Amino acid sequence: MENPKKIAVIGAGAAGYFAAISAAQHHPNAQVELFEKTDKVLGKVKISGGGRCNVMHHCFDIDALLTAYPRGGKKLKGIFYQFGPQQTHDWFEQNGVALKTEKDGRMFPSTNSSQTIVDVLMNTAQNAGVVLHKQSHVTQLLPNGDHAWQIRFATQATMTVDYVIVTTGGSPKKKGLDWLAQLDHKIVPPVPSLFTFNMPNEKITALKGVVASHAQVQIVGTKIATRGPLLVTHWGMSGPAILKASSLGARWLAEQDYTFTIRVRWNDRYNHNAWLNLLQESAKKHAQKQLGNHNPSELPQRLWIYLLERMGLSTHRRWSELGQKNIHRLIDVLTNDTYAVLGKTTFKDEFVTCGGVALNNIDLQSMRSKIHPRLYFAGEVLDIDAITGGYNFQAAWSSGFVAGKLQ
Ligand SMILES: Cc1cc2nc3c(=O)[nH]c(=O)nc-3n(C[C@H](O)[C@H](O)[C@H](O)COP(=O)(O)OP(=O)(O)OC[C@H]3O[C@@H](n4cnc5c(N)ncnc54)[C@H](O)[C@@H]3O)c2cc1C
Repeated sequence: MENPKKIAVIGAGAAGYFAAISAAQHHPNAQVELFEKTDKVLGKVKISGGGRCNVMHHCFDIDALLTAYPRGGKKLKGIFYQFGPQQTHDWFEQNGVALKTEKDGRMFPSTNSSQTIVDVLMNTAQNAGVVLHKQSHVTQLLPNGDHAWQIRFATQATMTVDYVIVTTGGSPKKKGLDWLAQLDHKIVPPVPSLFTFNMPNEKITALKGVVASHAQVQIVGTKIATRGPLLVTHWGMSGPAILKASSLGARWLAEQDYTFTIRVRWNDRYNHNAWLNLLQESAKKHAQKQLGNHNPSELPQRLWIYLLERMGLSTHRRWSELGQKNIHRLIDVLTNDTYAVLGKTTFKDEFVTCGGVALNNIDLQSMRSKIHPRLYFAGEVLDIDAITGGYNFQAAWSSGFVAGKLQ
């Protein structure tokens, strides 16, 4: 590769900043220009993680990490081996940002403020010589011979550069990616990922705020099954188990127009036999107690009462009066409870786009376009997205860093 003289990075988000910094550091003689269409940079970083920025996940095993990416998955191995969680962690620490890990593995700046991440990215880019241009909306990329690109802006202004890295983020509408499709890149139609489930016809919404800590959620008609805490909300269900299911099923659920059924195992730590033993033991040992007063399920009391009532069992009935048939019915509702989902709701304004520039058009060792030399991609503009927990930023840092090398 001849030495790059002018490198344009389009989109000043997480991936764009990392790509620009990496490009400036790997190619110190090049001029790196970072273009942002709005008057704000790193907008999503600033609002991410409820203003704290869940910058990465405490998952340093690459094979385990890959399972967090329903779109991308094993194909991301190459970039994570070049610049993975360890390098990301070290990068932030070496640049003066201490990170802390929460119980569930999410990592945040120890300041608990996303501004810390915004500041370190902006300062590092500036120190590396990256030139930022705000309010510079790129509308077209035109190959200029074999050795250059002409960038066209919404103002009709143009600029010629010899390398381009596209980091424009997810586009909720396919139309937003037309300018990249014009470059003969295949676009996987975008659909949302990471959302909660609406259940307007289900009475369980009366239990809003109740959490089943070890639930399993299965999307009926698919192989998708997730585990984790399930939160009942006033509109339906949320929590890690639901968000993960929405991510794994993003495309299928869009095809169903968000009308589908889920099956819930309320406490995944017990299988059928374990429940049978537990309930039979309760019937013996607590024979005189009322069903509502003795809750062996390890589920919140309100949920236990709800499940009894859902089966038409009086909470005043004694355990001795339950009988084998009802024990089996109870096991059925504990392990095989179904709910009708009608629609979705965005999770705390956090969403990612499933879809984007197709990965088979990209060399995933370098992030270079297989169609055009001198064109690279990084971040959510690609058909890469993850479950919640810091993995989406991880993909942005890793792909941005690798793209900036211009390999
Ligand atoms: C509310 C919210 C909270 C989130 N919280 C987390 C979290 O805590 N942890 C996590 O891992 N993920 C989180 N995510 C997801 C994460 O923010 C994204 O995956 C990540 O920002 C993607 O980075 P990106 O650089 O690819 O795209 P973006 O951050 O979307 O950046 C793209 C940039 O390009 C600019 N741009 C677009 N088109 C053009 C153009 N034609 N010309 C010039 N500029 C252009 C945009 O204005 C934008 O500034 C959150 C998302 C949301 C919405």
